[in-house]
Amino acid sequence: MTDAPLVSSGRGKLVVVAAPSGSGKTTIARELLRRNPSLRFSVSATTRPMRRGEVDGGDYFFLTPEEFRRRVSLGHFVEWEEIYGNLYGTLQSEVDAALRQGKHLLFDVDVKGALSIKRAYPKACLIFIRPPSMEVLEQRLRARLTEDAEALGRRLERVPMELAQAPLFDFQVVNDVLTKAIEEVQSIVHSHLQKS
Ligand code: ADP
Ligand code: 5GP
Repeated sequence: MTDAPLVSSGRGKLVVVAAPSGSGKTTIARELLRRNPSLRFSVSATTRPMRRGEVDGGDYFFLTPEEFRRRVSLGHFVEWEEIYGNLYGTLQSEVDAALRQGKHLLFDVDVKGALSIKRAYPKACLIFIRPPSMEVLEQRLRARLTEDAEALGRRLERVPMELAQAPLFDFQVVNDVLTKAIEEVQSIVHSHLQKS
């Protein structure tokens, strides 16, 4: 079956937050969704194993690598990347459905994915969340206790490449004091959603 053609009402806005792993992107994204009921989370597809507490279709669509690759070949993704050994991608159907309904969408994707979304949708608002320093980033990742030493190392290895892309984003926000970072991001999102 082919996807329905994109008929945008022009009202739906796209907001993308990206950051090196451990910078606080998920924490900030959750708060944005709580504060902005008109903002919907864009559920990505992934091949990584489900974490405790995650919901299929809520946090991600969890696919086998074969199914993911099949969908790539069918052109189902706006963008996709291999990150830390797993595949992650933004489904065209998610974006089309939101835009058709005039809904705003919030994307939590990696830095390369964010830039791909901007190429496909130039009006998307791209926000880069920066850690205050590499030391703080590492401390936060260790304290989160979600990765073993090897996975943690892989996440840290990627950070210089990610930080180098930050100037390409529309906004950069340093997440030092969480409440301050949330207020800053909220103000950016609020102005973007108000735009005609
Ligand atoms: P990301 O989604 O970017 O990988 P998370 O939102 O999971 O990052 O944040 C990483 C860890 O750091 C979490 O345990 C989170 O509670 C914590 N954290 C986030 N922001 C701050 C902050 N400003 N100060 C201290 N800890 C933070
Ligand atoms: P996690 O495994 O911690 O949920 O996510 C790992 C990384 O993949 C994070 O940086 C997250 O933002 C990114 N990610 C999640 N979904 C997508 C997606 O659809 N596309 C891209 N490019 N990255 C994604």
